[in-house]
Amino acid sequence: MYDYLIVGAGLYGAVCARELTDAGRKVLVIDKRDHIAGNVYTEKIEGINVHKYGAHIFHTNDKRVWDYVQKFATFNRFTNSPVANYKGELYSLPFNMYTFNKMWGVVTPEEALDKIEEQRKEITGEPKNLEEQAISLVGRDIYEKLIKGYTQKQWGRECSELPAFIIKRLPVRLTFDNNYFNALYQGIPIGGYTKLVEQMLKGIEVKTGVDYFRVKDEEAYSAQKVIYTGPIDAYFDYSLGTLEYRSVRFENELLDIPNYQGNAAVNYTDEQTPYTRIIEHKWFEFGKDEDGNDLPKTVISKEYSSEWKPGDEPYYPVNDDKNSALYKQYKELADKEGKVIFGGRLGEYKYYDMDQVIAAALNKTDDISNH
Ligand code: UDP
Repeated sequence: MYDYLIVGAGLYGAVCARELTDAGRKVLVIDKRDHIAGNVYTEKIEGINVHKYGAHIFHTNDKRVWDYVQKFATFNRFTNSPVANYKGELYSLPFNMYTFNKMWGVVTPEEALDKIEEQRKEITGEPKNLEEQAISLVGRDIYEKLIKGYTQKQWGRECSELPAFIIKRLPVRLTFDNNYFNALYQGIPIGGYTKLVEQMLKGIEVKTGVDYFRVKDEEAYSAQKVIYTGPIDAYFDYSLGTLEYRSVRFENELLDIPNYQGNAAVNYTDEQTPYTRIIEHKWFEFGKDEDGNDLPKTVISKEYSSEWKPGDEPYYPVNDDKNSALYKQYKELADKEGKVIFGGRLGEYKYYDMDQVIAAALNKTDDISNH
């Protein structure tokens, strides 16, 4: 009999496992996939750590979280500065003076602000959806070229039907600062995320390839409590209906050239290109292997966004009104499951970043240890 059965070996599960083990609890971690690390999983191909479930760039303002992850890995100095490709025109992201200069030919922050002010006038009152929010942040030109197509591809919904908060993730700056994140700390764990999670799970019993729903009544998996990090609706056998998720599919290519696009991420912001972005993984680690040698080949991933259907991997919760209301109902059921804690992006149906997941897991395990 375990104290805790942790379902899911992603970041939420791994942090809980580490903390509870260190607090003296007997823990078993299971994951239905054949590997640990959930969606932050990286796999080494030709010396390159490939982010198999999409680009993960660690960034945080939370010193506690930053100090915490340092215990398990050394982070490099990678800074995310994606490039947007709109029909062959390249723009700097997030929206900054380089972007405004390319878009309008403006040179000073004052000129850029004048342009934005002029264009944002079309929105009066509080923005009601992503489209209005975007226009009121940066104006219609940038909305049309850099936001509309990308967002519609990513979410499979019109910008006017999406919540405004999604776009508030993106900073707008009247400086030449193209660091995508407004974070104090940022970087990629050297050696990959799988290694980081391996370090977290060191000395802890982990079984991969084990589906919780198949084994939950077996003696070998019995535990006082369960920490469940899978989709909350799946736990309740979709009894109230299915929550919607966005899924992502990757087409990976190994190319016999050293440099495909000169940047880790290039977003394709038009509506016609079927993928949302291309990731060139070697640039997360400056094109070098761990000994500092240049890597002769490169791996790229084209990212296609799609609506989730059973059998696909869920990636992003769709936090619109309809789904938020359904989640609330599932949450009520979850609160009644005394033995089970629901956590993480899927367990809480929340668009968490990695640092927020770690903070949530640390808070949860603090609570447990204090009782
Ligand atoms: N976004 C956009 N154009 C871009 C990049 C992002 O319009 O080139 C918007 C889009 O609405 C997206 C949101 O910003 O859903 C958040 O994007 P981000 O890249 O942060 O999402 P991630 O997939 O990295 O979580």
